[in-house]
Amino acid sequence: MKLLEGKTALITGASRGIGQAIAQQFAAHGAHVAFTYLASAEKAAALEKELRQQGVKAMGFRSDASSYAEAEKLVDEVLKEFQILDVVVNNAGITRDNLILRMSEQQWDEVLTTNLKSVFNICKQVVRTMMKNRGGSIINVSSVVGLTGNAGQTNYAASKAGMIGFTKSLAKELGSRNIRCNVVAPGFIETDMTAGLNEEVKAQYIKNIPLGRYGSPDDVARVCVFLASDLSAYVSGQVISVCGGLHT
Ligand code: NAP
Repeated sequence: MKLLEGKTALITGASRGIGQAIAQQFAAHGAHVAFTYLASAEKAAALEKELRQQGVKAMGFRSDASSYAEAEKLVDEVLKEFQILDVVVNNAGITRDNLILRMSEQQWDEVLTTNLKSVFNICKQVVRTMMKNRGGSIINVSSVVGLTGNAGQTNYAASKAGMIGFTKSLAKELGSRNIRCNVVAPGFIETDMTAGLNEEVKAQYIKNIPLGRYGSPDDVARVCVFLASDLSAYVSGQVISVCGGLHT
């Protein structure tokens, strides 16, 4: 059964990792997909081609999630091409890990603007059209680190915790317009973002994961399909951890 037939989605940061898997799963479920990337132009072009092979409309846009002006331009262009937006996934994110004593102002600012301000940038632009359509689903990709904290990630944890407060507030503001807002909080997922961690840290993580394995991008994408679809019609303002039981 195709769960997203006829819906149109915008996904930020879909050239790699979790965002790419969300785009692939959405298209496999019949959604038309607009997505963004920053540096990976070739990967974005390949993804666009792959998604179209599913018989849906698909377009990649180079757009820096941290820029308010680029978000404004992006949503304008997406609406011109796709006319409607039913689902938005704020997925683009970065890490700039460091202990607080060594963390620079730049590392703080880059993470906060890319991970948190980006969510404001996009939501601000899409709520008007969703309100007009009297419906929509906004999915913000946070992290279990936003719930638990993590040494060496004060910037990242603050950005991810901020996304949760933002989402819960927006869910309360927009519920009466049938716009649902939820958070997905992945645990340890195997992507480029986690590839650089040293083996000792990885071994420590896996010891604490009750399901005994790292997550895959598809594990997260399938939960996004649920939140984007009408199966979750009465779910809003929630945080769903996708972490193999790491955070309970
Ligand atoms: P990833 O493999 O590093 O991919 C990041 C994606 O975000 C890429 O497509 C990248 O585009 C895009 N991106 C980065 N900065 C951007 C910007 N300023 N504007 C637009 N796009 C930008 O990361 P991932 O592991 O898939 O993570 C995706 C999301 O899940 C992030 O929000 C991350 O914090 C969250 N998360 C990940 C994990 C994990 O274990 N991997 C756990 C919890 C939460 P380019 O390729 O063009 O650079």
